[in-house]
Amino acid sequence: MTASLFEHDETFAAVAVGRPVRGEFTYLVPARLAPTLVPGVRVKIPFGRSTILGFYLGPAPTPADDVRAKVKPLTEVLEATPALTSDVVELCRFAAHHYRYPLGEVLRATLPPGLSRPQAEREVKPEVLHVAVALEGADPSTLRRAPAQQAALSYLLAVGGRANVDEVAHAIPGAREHLRALVKKNLVRLETRALVKGVVEGMGAARPAKLTDEQATAVRELEALLDAGGFAPVLLQGVTGSGKTEVYLRIVERALEAGRGALVLVPEIALTPQLVGRFRSRFGPRVAVLHSALTDTERLRAWQQLRRGEVKVAVGVRSAVWAPVADLSVIVVDEEHDPSFKQDDKLRYHARDLAVMRARQRGCLVVLGSATPSLETLENARKGRYRLLRLTRRVDDRPMPALHLVDLRVERPRTEETRDTEPPVLSPTLRQAIGETLEKGQQVILFLNRRGHATFLTCEVCGQNLKCTECDVCLTFYRASNRVQCNYCGRAHPLPRGCPECGGPLLQLGVGTERIEAEVAEAFPAARVGRLDRDAVTTNERLTDLLSSFARRELDVLIGTQMVAKGHDFPGVTLVAVVLADTALSLPDFRAAERTFHLLTQVAGRAGRGADAGRVLVQTYNPEALPIAAMLQNDFEGFSARELERRRLLQWPPTARLAAIRLEATDAERCARAARHLAEAARRAMPPPSHGVRLLGPAPAPITRIKGQTRWQLVVKGPTHAALAGPLDAIERALAEVPSSVKVVIDVDPAAML
Ligand code: ADP
Ligand code: ZN
Repeated sequence: MTASLFEHDETFAAVAVGRPVRGEFTYLVPARLAPTLVPGVRVKIPFGRSTILGFYLGPAPTPADDVRAKVKPLTEVLEATPALTSDVVELCRFAAHHYRYPLGEVLRATLPPGLSRPQAEREVKPEVLHVAVALEGADPSTLRRAPAQQAALSYLLAVGGRANVDEVAHAIPGAREHLRALVKKNLVRLETRALVKGVVEGMGAARPAKLTDEQATAVRELEALLDAGGFAPVLLQGVTGSGKTEVYLRIVERALEAGRGALVLVPEIALTPQLVGRFRSRFGPRVAVLHSALTDTERLRAWQQLRRGEVKVAVGVRSAVWAPVADLSVIVVDEEHDPSFKQDDKLRYHARDLAVMRARQRGCLVVLGSATPSLETLENARKGRYRLLRLTRRVDDRPMPALHLVDLRVERPRTEETRDTEPPVLSPTLRQAIGETLEKGQQVILFLNRRGHATFLTCEVCGQNLKCTECDVCLTFYRASNRVQCNYCGRAHPLPRGCPECGGPLLQLGVGTERIEAEVAEAFPAARVGRLDRDAVTTNERLTDLLSSFARRELDVLIGTQMVAKGHDFPGVTLVAVVLADTALSLPDFRAAERTFHLLTQVAGRAGRGADAGRVLVQTYNPEALPIAAMLQNDFEGFSARELERRRLLQWPPTARLAAIRLEATDAERCARAARHLAEAARRAMPPPSHGVRLLGPAPAPITRIKGQTRWQLVVKGPTHAALAGPLDAIERALAEVPSSVKVVIDVDPAAML
C-alpha cells in the first residue's frame, strides 16, 4: 500500500443513496459524527447539487488519492437507533442483487412514509381510547350537591356502566372534568385501551376446542421446528376448508408464548377480512395489520411498534415482508401461489420468494400454505428442499364438494334468434341448480373472470373487433351505462351506432359479469344478487359491506371475478358455478394452465364449507383441456405432475429461470430498434450453448400496445439465475445507448408474460 496524502485519522462510510443509481458511495465521516454512526442509520448526504437521504452500510476502505479529493463529508446522522435493522438490510441486499435494482431505492422502499425523506424520525404516540367505567354501587342520588357530576354518572349508568369518554363529553358538556371528579370520589374508574383500526371486528371464529388429527400433527411438527430454531422451510398443502388458518394461528401463538416475533403474509387484506379478523380476535392489539388503507401516521405507528418489539406479530400484504418484526421466529405465507405476491412495478420482487430468503438469512421457520401450491414450491418440496405437511380432509369430515361438468358445446347451442348476441350463458343445468339451491334457502357463487356485459364487439359485415385507440385490446361493452371501455387504460365512450370502419351492425360477443347479473335477475327475479368485481366495487368500504352482507345471508347470489375465488369462508354457500372455465386457457403465457387450475380449484373450494354439502358446476367448451379435466377429477397431483413435465420439456420455470426485458415507447420503430440493440448485446455475452442459456425474441409483446405505447420484449432463460448474469449484465450496460424515450425494465422471475 502506498502512503496516502490524506491518511490521518480519516474514516470513510459506505452509503447507499436513496436515488435510482447503482452501487455504494463513499463519504468522509466528520469526526463529530463518527461516534453516532451505526450500520442501518439514515444519514443526510450531499449528492450532486442537493442534500438527500442515504443509508450508512458500514465502514468503507480509504479511497485512492485521486478520488479522495472528490469525496464529500456526510452532512448529518438522522437518528440514534437505526431505522433499518440488520436483517432487513441483509434482505434488501439480496433483493437489490437478485432483482437488479439500486440498493438505496430498495432500502427506501421498505420504510414507512416520513422515514423515506432526509428528516429525523417523528415519534407517533399509540392511539388510545379512554373509557369511563362506573364502579360497583355508584349512585347518582348521592351527588345532589354536584348536579353536573350527577348527570355524567347517570349517563354512564344509563348506557350500561361504561362508555367512551369522548362520547360522554359529547353528550354532556364539560364531562371530562366531571368524570375526573367522580374518579376522585371513587365512583368511576378510567381505563385506556389501545385502539386498533382497519379490520372488521367480530369476523373471527372462536378458537376451536379440538384440532383435527391432521391439524394436530402439522402443529406438532411446526412447533418442533420452531423450538429447534434454524432455517426450516415448510409447505403446508391443505385442501380448501381443511383449517390451514388454524394451523397458522397456533404456530404464531407458540411464537408469542415464547416472547418472539411472527410475520404473516396474505395476498389481499381487503378481500379476506375474515382471515385478518381471526388473527385480530385471537391476538388483539398484539398484531399490527399492514394494509394499503392505513394512513401515513398509522403505518408509521405500526412500523415503530414492531421495531421496538411492542407489537410482535405483523399481518400484511406483500410489502409486509420488509416489516421490522423484532426477534422474528416464523414467517407464514398464506395462499403462497397467489400472483399478487409479485410486485409488478418498480422493484419487481416476489414476496413469497423474499419470505423464504429472509427465513434462510435469519435461520427461522417459514410456512408456505396453499390448497394449490405453485409449481415452484411444489418442485422444492419434491426435491426435499422443503418439508411437506398435508391436510387432506376438511374440518369436521365435511365432504369436498361434488364436481360436475357442463359441456357448453352441448348445453349452449347457438340458435337463429340468438345469432346476433350471445345465447344465455346460464345453461339449463345451471339454472336448475341455482333454482334448487335458492329454494333450500342456501347461497350461490357464480364465477366468471371477465367484466362487463359483452367482452368484445364484432362488426357483422367486415368482421373487425372494436378496439381501443390507445391499446391493442378489444373494448368491453357495459350495458348499464351503454358505454364501451378499455379495461387496460380506462378510456370509455358511448357505444357507437355501428362499426367505425364500415358502419355495419355490431355483434355483442363474449360474456362478462354484468351480463350474468342480468341473466340471473331475469331468471330469478326474487333472488337478492350482489356483484363483486372492480366495476361494481370501487372502494374498500363497499367491498367490506358486500362481503359482510353476503356473510349475513342478506344476499342469495354473489357474482364475480377472481375476487370471489379468494379464501372466503361462507358456510351458507352450497353451489358454486364456474360460468366459463375457458377464459384464461389460451392466454399466451406459460402459466395459463396453472392459473386456470388454481382459480377453478380455489373458487370450487368456496362450496360446502358449512353443515350442508356443496356442489360445483363447471361450464366449459374445453372439457378435455388438462387443467379443466384434472380439476373436475379433483386431481391436483395428476395435474401438477403433467404440467411439471411439460415445463421441463419446454424449459420453463420451475425447471428454468427467466428474466424478461420489456421495452415501451411511443415511437414503434424506436422501440423495435432498442429491443434489437439489447438483444444483440445479450447475444454477444451468451455463455457457450452447453450452459443452456437462451434468448427468446426480441419480439412485440403479446399485447403490442398499451396506453399508446408500443411494447417489445425479450426473455433470457437458463438453468439457474447465475447463468443469466452474463447476458443481463450486458443488457444493463447497453442501456446507456438506449434513448431515454424508450422505457426499459428488467423483470427477474416474471409473473406474467403479456
Ligand atoms: P382453509 O384455510 O384451509 O380453507 P379455514 O382455515 O378457513 O380453511 O377453516 C375452515 C373453517 O373451519 C373455518 O370456519 C374455521 O374456523 C373452521 N375450523 C378450523 N379448524 C377447526 C377445528 N379444529 N374444529 C372446528 N372448526 C375448525
Ligand atoms: Zn386502452
